[in-house]
Amino acid sequence: MTGGEDRLRNIPDLTGNERAIMYCRNCGNQLDDRAIACPKCGLDPRAGTACCQNCGKPTPPAVVCTNCGASLARVGYYDPRAGNKIAAGICAILLGSLGVHKFILGYTGAGLTMLLVTVLTCGLGGIITHLIGFIEGILYLTKSDEDFVNTYVINKRPWF
Ligand SMILES: [Zn+2]
Ligand SMILES: [Zn+2]
Repeated sequence: MTGGEDRLRNIPDLTGNERAIMYCRNCGNQLDDRAIACPKCGLDPRAGTACCQNCGKPTPPAVVCTNCGASLARVGYYDPRAGNKIAAGICAILLGSLGVHKFILGYTGAGLTMLLVTVLTCGLGGIITHLIGFIEGILYLTKSDEDFVNTYVINKRPWF
């Protein structure tokens, strides 16, 4: 495994001609840097959080690998904390009036508020909560992962 680390560090990334290696972030399988799917697990090798792409060892979701210290932010377009984005967005659009997306994001209070408004008005208030959910769903889905994490995971903005 250490041989892999050395080789990866020696790759002149910008030429694009060298064959770099990486490890699948789902299963730790060694594969070509340019592979779009892991031959072993079939998933996008950059999309996982289970293993380090630099040493292949299992690592908790973190900024740097706890085994080799490599930056795990190298896979810039994927932030594991944005993992709820799609689910929350779709639930907001389809089930917004029940506050389901709020529970997904951990906003129990806001979720209960939406649920109660909808239920206690026998669905009349659901017109409003559904509209709120719909707008929020669009907002979630149009945000970048980075934006989403900043707004809803770090700053915990409960509404919109
Ligand atoms: Zn794999
Ligand atoms: Zn590592």
